[in-house]
Amino acid sequence: MHAPRELFTATAMAPWWRAAVGANLLGPDGGLGVTIFEEMTTLAVQTGAINLGQGFPDEDGPAEIKAAVQAAVASGANQYAPGKGLLELREAVSAHQQRFYGLSPDPQSEVIITTGATEGIAASLLAFAGPGDEVLTFEPFYDSYGAVIGLTGATHVTVPLLAPEFFPDMAALEAAFSDRTKVVLLNNPHNPTGAVFPREVLQRVVDLARKHDCLIITDEVYEHLTFGVSHIPVASLPGAADRTVSISSAGKTFSFTGWKIGWLSGPEELVSAIRTVKQFLTYSSGTPFQAAIATGLALPDDFYHGIWTTLRHKRDILSEGLRAAGFDVYTPQGTYFVNVDTAPLGIHDSVDLARRLPSLVGVAAIPLPVFCHPQGAERTRSLLRFAFCKKIEVLEEAAARLATLSGKL
Ligand code: PMP
Ligand code: GLN
Repeated sequence: MHAPRELFTATAMAPWWRAAVGANLLGPDGGLGVTIFEEMTTLAVQTGAINLGQGFPDEDGPAEIKAAVQAAVASGANQYAPGKGLLELREAVSAHQQRFYGLSPDPQSEVIITTGATEGIAASLLAFAGPGDEVLTFEPFYDSYGAVIGLTGATHVTVPLLAPEFFPDMAALEAAFSDRTKVVLLNNPHNPTGAVFPREVLQRVVDLARKHDCLIITDEVYEHLTFGVSHIPVASLPGAADRTVSISSAGKTFSFTGWKIGWLSGPEELVSAIRTVKQFLTYSSGTPFQAAIATGLALPDDFYHGIWTTLRHKRDILSEGLRAAGFDVYTPQGTYFVNVDTAPLGIHDSVDLARRLPSLVGVAAIPLPVFCHPQGAERTRSLLRFAFCKKIEVLEEAAARLATLSGKL
């Protein structure tokens, strides 16, 4: 028997989920479709454009980590990992926190391995936020935040980040907290703006979280991608440790975004609540990849130093090209994204430009309004994000192509 036809259409999606996940999609029917990253990557592939949209490196990470995954597969590490993740990786996460930040989460009870940072974020929000609660983020915000906050049923409250530095106004930050604030979801270094927040901003968030007795979930996936400024883990700040869940991932640090190995750490009570949710999302994943990332986390300091020095050089090459193309460039202190204002070229709708850019000049990028609610979208209407985690010759070619843009508008 055939199911009613409408079950095969968009309307089959439960309306409140549809509203929740739709906020950051540009789907033709206003709420269904693929993420902006998928849309722009598909467009880049179709047009043969250089893809500076979705953030993924065009070179693999260290050979020894690749060899470690092959060895793990060959040695039979191919069945389910424990729900908490392989002990050797939990130990490596803890040792990494100790080595770089002087933090010492207990690998047995205060660390879990997740399917990328994405699952860590989702499981944490689902564990703590629900209808009637508010979850606070900066705006623009990484796309999965809006969707998952929506899925929890909580209200998403945002604090704008203001160009050129993309720091929040402190009074607006304070005003955004209420007695319904349940979670502050931070992201530092910040995608999409590339901001690295100063200690005063982070400490203010911690103090306000204490005052309003709420939790802090901090997404620090770009922790090793800062350019000459140190990364300050929120969990290391006075007053933070007992209410902070820290999330990170192997994708950015080791250039293996496709492996989807992430982790989180925090106080035992919080981590066990998250684990309860996490086991029903994926239970566990990527056993041999987990083993290999344990090797990666133990790599010597010169590897970690090499990541940001190489990227800083790439940032400078692309930024120079973008400036020469006529954009106003906001130089990032972290991540592998640089944002530009397209207004000097007479462009005021970066969503429209992003859709036309691949066929106009053969480069793909991501418009900032998709990381915002409507008001924030208005504020960021002419801003566009480019990823610079690509080979130098690719960045140079992209710059040469973008230099022709002003003549084609
Ligand atoms: N948070 C931020 C801020 C990101 O930019 C990304 C992805 N690139 C993620 C989370 C997701 O990380 P993962 O691929 O490990 O799930
Ligand atoms: N984090 C990547 C970016 O910001 C995209 C990851 C994804 O496609 N979900 O470009």
